[in-house]
Amino acid sequence: MATLEIRDLHVSVEAENGPREILKGVDLTVKQGETHAIMGPNGSGKSTLAYSIAGHPKYTITSGTVTLDGENVLEMTVDERARAGMFLAMQYPVEVPGVSVSNFLRTSATAIRGEAPKLRTWVKEVKSAMEKLQMDPAFAERNVNEGFSGGEKKRHEILQLELLKPKIAILDETDSGLDVDALRQVAEGVNRVHGTGEVGTLLITHYTRILRYIKPDFVHVFAKGRIAESGGAELADKLEAEGYEAYTKGGVSA
Ligand code: ADP
Ligand code: MG
Ligand code: MG
Repeated sequence: MATLEIRDLHVSVEAENGPREILKGVDLTVKQGETHAIMGPNGSGKSTLAYSIAGHPKYTITSGTVTLDGENVLEMTVDERARAGMFLAMQYPVEVPGVSVSNFLRTSATAIRGEAPKLRTWVKEVKSAMEKLQMDPAFAERNVNEGFSGGEKKRHEILQLELLKPKIAILDETDSGLDVDALRQVAEGVNRVHGTGEVGTLLITHYTRILRYIKPDFVHVFAKGRIAESGGAELADKLEAEGYEAYTKGGVSA
């Protein structure tokens, strides 16, 4: 089983008055088959964690390690991370002019599997995955992210997740801006992927509401650049009732 290990991760960004430390020693282990929810107030550093694992150039790792089965993820190119089995939803936030969803997905699958999926079976796979997400078939011919609504972007993320079947998936705020129906469809997609037992998911969110539809194996409270508390699904219920106040005394970020 593949294991993502984050050890004592410290990350800085270049701010106007010099480098500013955002992550202050994050420790986390995610195994294939497990669903982890990271929850925390806005500004606590959750996206910074996601971008750092994705290899975004704006974030400087000042110390600590991120490994996938012992391999140093931080030394991998973005493509190598994908081929190693990591899916980082924020990796492709931009519009890709002239590239359809269908071609984009096939190119991604080719990069990850090492060979192009057979066209005929691939078309069926895409169609079936889109049906499960109740997506209009015409969506496959749209250009990636061009004019996508918030909900379409999130569904596209889950479509990628279902088709690319990564070992470890990191979904940042995949629930924000969704109406109830879209939220449920997205959650069902995450649950289907979890049901395969082959994907470890790190679900990063500010809101507790998606956890009405997804029961994580582990919940971590993120505050001030590190994990402040870890527990099971019951921790999400506590957060829903009590909010983050207990974790944010003296400010959100540091
Ligand atoms: P979250 O996702 O939990 O809301 P972020 O990781 O987006 O938190 O941000 C954490 C903190 O780091 C915030 O105070 C934010 O303003 C700051 N930050 C993030 N990225 C940058 C950046 N590129 N430059 C300056 N500050 C940043
Ligand atoms: Mg935020
Ligand atoms: Mg964020």
